Amino acid sequence: MTLHLHGLAVAQGIAQGRAVVVQSRSSGVPRRQISDDQVPEELRRLGQARDALARELQGLLVTVPRDAPAELAAMIDVHLQLLQDEALQDAVAVWITEHHYNAEWALTTQMDLFARQFDAMSDAYLRERKGDLNQVVERLLHHLGGLPLAPVAPPASHDADPRILVAHDLSPADMLRYREGAFAGFVTDVGAATSHTAIVARSMGIPAVVAARGASELVQPDAWLILDGDAGVVLVDPPAEVRAQYRRRQLELARHDEELEYLAAVPACTSDGQAVQLLANIESPQDVPMALRSGAVGVGLFRTEFLFMGRGSDLPGEEEQYAAYRSVVEGMKGLPVTIRTIDVGADKPLDGARAGANPALGLRAIRWSLSDLPMFRTQLRALLRAAVFGPVGVLFPMVANLDEARRASTQVELARDELAARGMPAGAVRLGAMVEVPAAALLAEDFLQQFDFLSIGTNDLIQYTLAIDRSDETVAHLYDPLHPAVLRLIAMVLAAGERCGKEVSLCGEMAGDASLTRLLLGMGLHRFSMQPTSIPRVKQQILRSDAADLKAWAEQVVRSQTPRSIWNARSPSTT
Ligand code: PEP
Ligand code: MG
Repeated sequence: MTLHLHGLAVAQGIAQGRAVVVQSRSSGVPRRQISDDQVPEELRRLGQARDALARELQGLLVTVPRDAPAELAAMIDVHLQLLQDEALQDAVAVWITEHHYNAEWALTTQMDLFARQFDAMSDAYLRERKGDLNQVVERLLHHLGGLPLAPVAPPASHDADPRILVAHDLSPADMLRYREGAFAGFVTDVGAATSHTAIVARSMGIPAVVAARGASELVQPDAWLILDGDAGVVLVDPPAEVRAQYRRRQLELARHDEELEYLAAVPACTSDGQAVQLLANIESPQDVPMALRSGAVGVGLFRTEFLFMGRGSDLPGEEEQYAAYRSVVEGMKGLPVTIRTIDVGADKPLDGARAGANPALGLRAIRWSLSDLPMFRTQLRALLRAAVFGPVGVLFPMVANLDEARRASTQVELARDELAARGMPAGAVRLGAMVEVPAAALLAEDFLQQFDFLSIGTNDLIQYTLAIDRSDETVAHLYDPLHPAVLRLIAMVLAAGERCGKEVSLCGEMAGDASLTRLLLGMGLHRFSMQPTSIPRVKQQILRSDAADLKAWAEQVVRSQTPRSIWNARSPSTT
C-alpha cells in the first residue's frame, strides 16, 4: 500500500528514486548515569566536542563557495553563536554536575527543554531557530562520538536509480556537502520555508519537502519515493502506474524547462529595435529561481500578502519580513525588484479578519495599511533594510486618491527615521502606485507628480471599471479585458507616463496573455510583469512584432466601440 506523507512544498519539481534514510537522534543517544568523579571527564568531553565543532564551522565559513546562497554563511554564523551561547553551556553543565547525566544525555535533555520554550514563542522567526539549535546539538553529538552524519553521497549500488535523502533535519553544513548534486531530492521531518534545506534546495533547483512529520522513521531504506515538490507530498512505494504517470509529468517539466532555457537568454526586442522589459510576478522568495530561469529582467510585482496569509494571528514581524525581502533582493542579483506592500482584504483575507458586507470595496490594500500604521511601518522598515542589498521599488496597492498617496509616502519617511534612530542602514527606494481603480487611471498624471512609477493592475482595474466581482463566477462572462473603457483607461495611463517621462508597467494577468501582447505593445507598453511561466510565449510574440507597425492598429482598436471585432479581424502581419 502506498504511504502518503504531507509536508511543506518548499522547492518545486518532481523527483523519483530510492530512499537513503539518515537516523534521527532519538534512536541513537547513549544515556548513562555517571559518578561524582566522572563529572570532570564528562565536562572535558563536552568542551572538546564544542571546540571541535567551532573549528569545523569556522573552517566551513571560509570555504563557503562564492555562488552559494548568501543565507548559508549567515546560518553557519548563527550556529557558531548558538554554540558559544553561555546559557546553553551553563544549562548543559548543570545536568552533568548536579544530575550526573553523561554529556550526550545532558545535551539532549536540555535541547528538549529549549524546544518546548521555542514552541511557545509567538514569533515564527524565533520559533524556527529551534531547528538551528537542534542541528548544533546533533553535530555536538556527532563530535562526542555518538551520532553518524548524513552521508556525503548516496551509497554505491549496482543500479543507477536516483536517490532521495530522507532525514530528520539537515544542517547548512550538510547542505553545502550536497551542492554537487548527489541527491535528486530532499525530505525532512522538520523545517519551514526559510529553513536551510529549503533555501539550498531551491538554489540548487532540487525538489524538496520539509516538515513531513515522521518521514525519517516511517520511510524504509531503499523504499521507492515520489517527491512532489509542487504539492508538498511524498509517496512511498507507489504502484507502477502512478510512477509512470509521474514520469510523464517529469518529462513534461523537463521539456518546459528546455523551452524556458532556450528563450531565457534572448533579449525581448521587437524586429524594429524596441526593447521590452519582461518582469516576473512572484509570491514568495521561493519563486526567485524560476523567475531567473525564465529570463525575467527583474521582479515587477512581489505580492507580499502571501507571507501574511494562513497563519492565524501570528503575522510575520520585521525580522521575518526583512529576511524574506532581502532573500528576494539578493536572489535577483542586482536586477530591480518591485515589492508591493500588503494587499489583503477582498479575495485575499487574513485569517480571522472581519470582512465588511462588500469586501472588494472595503478595508483592503493601502486602506488596510493606513488603518494600522504600526503594522505598515514594520513592513516599510523591513523593505528599507532589504533595499540596502539591491535596487528596490516599493509599490502601494489600490491607491485611489492623492491624500492616500501622500500619507503612504510620509510613512516611508517615518520608517526611515525609525531605522536611523536605531542606527540601522536603510536603502534608497523608488516609490510607485498600482493603478487598480478608475480614479487612479484618471489621475495618473497627478500620481506621477508624487511617485516615481506606476504599475497597472488590470485584474482589479477591470473589476472596478466594469463593476464585476472578479471572484463571482455568475458574472465572469462580463469580465472583459477588451472592453473599450478598460482599454482607454490603460491608454490614458501609458500616455501620462510618456508625458511625464516616468515608467509605467502592467502587472495584471493581461500582461501574461500572449494573445494581447501585440495590442499592448502597439499601445506603447514596454514593461510587462507576469507569472514567470508566461514569459517565453510573450517573448515569442515580441520577437515577431514590429512595434511601429502595431501602433496605428492599436489606436484603432482603442478608439473603437467594439475593439474586439478589430482585434479579432486583423493584426498587422508578423515579421
Ligand atoms: C491586479 O489587480 O491586476 C494585480 C496585479 O493585483 P492582484 O491580482 O494581486 O490583486
Ligand atoms: Mg490587484
